[in-house]
Amino acid sequence: MSEGKKVLLIYTGGTIGMVPDPATGVLRPFSLDALMQRIPELHELDCTIDLHSFDRPVDSSDMRIPHWQALGELIHHHYSSYDGFVVLHGSDTMAYSAAALSFMLEDLQKPVVLTGSQLPIGVLRSDAKENLLTALEIACAQNADGRAVVPEVGVYFEYDLFRGNRVHKENTEDFEAFRSPNYPKLAESGVRLKFRSEAILQRKGSFRYHPELSSSVGVLSIQPGLSLEWLRHQLHSTDMACFVLQSFGSGNLPTDPDFLGILKEAIDRGKVLVNVSQCRTGAVQHGLYGTSEALDRLGIVSGRDILLEAAWAKLMHLHGLGLSSDEIREGFARPICGEMSL
Ligand code: ASP
Repeated sequence: MSEGKKVLLIYTGGTIGMVPDPATGVLRPFSLDALMQRIPELHELDCTIDLHSFDRPVDSSDMRIPHWQALGELIHHHYSSYDGFVVLHGSDTMAYSAAALSFMLEDLQKPVVLTGSQLPIGVLRSDAKENLLTALEIACAQNADGRAVVPEVGVYFEYDLFRGNRVHKENTEDFEAFRSPNYPKLAESGVRLKFRSEAILQRKGSFRYHPELSSSVGVLSIQPGLSLEWLRHQLHSTDMACFVLQSFGSGNLPTDPDFLGILKEAIDRGKVLVNVSQCRTGAVQHGLYGTSEALDRLGIVSGRDILLEAAWAKLMHLHGLGLSSDEIREGFARPICGEMSL
């Protein structure tokens, strides 16, 4: 194996890293040795791989803020020692972790590629081998001048590399589990690995790490005929500071003055409300219909084409920074690292 480039492979848990214990058959997290034995092609990659496993690997449904901070901390701590990072992660909440990392790792100059698989690495038909090998290849891909080809947080799954804050998991059965409805793929793996440089972030600043994340964020999905009492309770009975409102179509909400009054009252009390469509493809456009005309006036922020996962993580990041409600509203309206269109 070449001593040139170095990648840190971080195992957080999830299906991909499980191998059957030879004695009992129970699925357990792998060791680097076991991995190297199962995937001898790893020796052919033009990079050195170091493995770091979480002490207690978790199913991704158990991921919480401290896990994201542990991941961010690891990357921050080892930032100058590696050319890139691959994070093995359960697919269920991978999009949330990828989005969170994209905000925590500001002006990242190196690839952080999250990947996983639908079947464990030890299973004959597993998608794990290709996902892992190509994620590692992406993590050490460099231009002729030595700069990383993909200086951003990505999700690699089933031959496609997506921007980490533009994906969502949409399929529990197919190997093709992720989709990026509003932003092109960053790379596609076929006979060759094809990078789309026009879609990849061009970094200018220098790397900064933001560990602070707030848990004072909620999601309210609006349904026709929803109880106003319930809405008032959700918005006012907790000390939650920020809410993602999941609206209809291009950002439409009921025009009932009582409904809008409850939202207005929340904003007047300093809560931040962000409008994200229940439709995954396309964008919120305030004022396109009469049903969204009042929203700018009320102080509801348009999430445009952002996905729920990224909106959630962006609010956790902005509120975590200790910003005021007005600063969060302003900060949310601007793209930070390619998570929404201008
Ligand atoms: N439930 C698993 C997880 O998200 C599924 C997977 O690994 O893809 O951790």
